[in-house]
Amino acid sequence: MLPVTKTTLPSLEVYAAYLEQIWQAGQLTNNGPLCRQLTFDIASYLRVSNLELVTNGTLALQLAIKALNLKGEIITTPYSYVATTNSILWEGCEPVFVDIEPQTFCINSELIEAAITKKTSAILATHVYGYPCNVIRIQQLADEHKIKVIYDAAHAFGVRLAGESILQHGDCSTLSFHATKLFHTVEGGAVVCKDAEVTKRVFLMKKFGHIGEDDYLDIGINAKMSELHAAMGLCVLPRVNDIIAARKECSGWYDEQLEGSLLQWPVPPVGLEYNYGYYPVIFPSHDVMMKVRQTLLDNGIGPRRYFSPSLNTLPFLKPELKRACPMSENISSCVLCLPLYVGLSKAEIDVVCDLIRRTLQGGVTL
Ligand SMILES: *Cc1c(COP(=O)(O)O)cnc(C)c1O
Repeated sequence: MLPVTKTTLPSLEVYAAYLEQIWQAGQLTNNGPLCRQLTFDIASYLRVSNLELVTNGTLALQLAIKALNLKGEIITTPYSYVATTNSILWEGCEPVFVDIEPQTFCINSELIEAAITKKTSAILATHVYGYPCNVIRIQQLADEHKIKVIYDAAHAFGVRLAGESILQHGDCSTLSFHATKLFHTVEGGAVVCKDAEVTKRVFLMKKFGHIGEDDYLDIGINAKMSELHAAMGLCVLPRVNDIIAARKECSGWYDEQLEGSLLQWPVPPVGLEYNYGYYPVIFPSHDVMMKVRQTLLDNGIGPRRYFSPSLNTLPFLKPELKRACPMSENISSCVLCLPLYVGLSKAEIDVVCDLIRRTLQGGVTL
């Protein structure tokens, strides 16, 4: 089976060397030496300051919402993983869905203003597949209306725009280091904040709001990263440039093989340094996509319908939250992410592309 992604595992010896260190230090969690080292190394790699490691990317979103003290309505994208919407709901806020743009599949910044009301406290947008939102326009709107901005940057590890980390934008950006992501700590994540005060709140809140012996300063939760997870991060981080390079090569092979077919691709903005986190393609219709998906599955290839359903149609939303988002609904119904990981061979990509091309030709003339 060719999966959509495969976790990059370090050699067991390299991981074991970190385990030795943990055993010697005798500290398994609570911001131990490996966590502190990983915080420093990731911040240096990404060239950001104010970074807090957490247990996963979902808690990163929830902590960002809490630390910015958001209430009421949060304008958000319908085209993302379900965690983006769930974190808003879990924090007792209302998601207000604004449709996406056809080039990057990110929230359409031209449609945001019409959705702002007196109750709007923030915009929570996803750099989906690592393609950046229109960060300049979104910041203008946020400044004009005095609302906050959070970016779900779960896909955007290492992405740079105009020479700068995409994580510099917004009040907070959140990362996921889940095993399926480009850089991982098995489970893990981080919050990157613009403001040092907000970072302090995240730091406090991720450890119960409890500091020192008996100071309980705020409502907190437990979102600390353990030393064993940090150790995995320290093994994988030195390989990230190679991981990105390998994924770039695979993406290039797909591009070559699929050029001239009836597929559509996201259109990256000028000045993007991409991380090749995903290889999404849009089929001409839902039926064609489903037919290709079945053909691939029949041949032991497991593409994924990232991202479907469009989040404005989630079954557990109150009916009044299910605003129509035709672009997102359409893309969701026609998209597949193709296998993309380190170690995927050119021959395997040829097989995938051959099956797609043949099904497309058959599918279109039928
Ligand atoms: C993976 C992902 C998350 C959740 O991250 P976890 O670390 O799995 O909790 C959130 N948002 C997006 C867009 C994701 O892809």
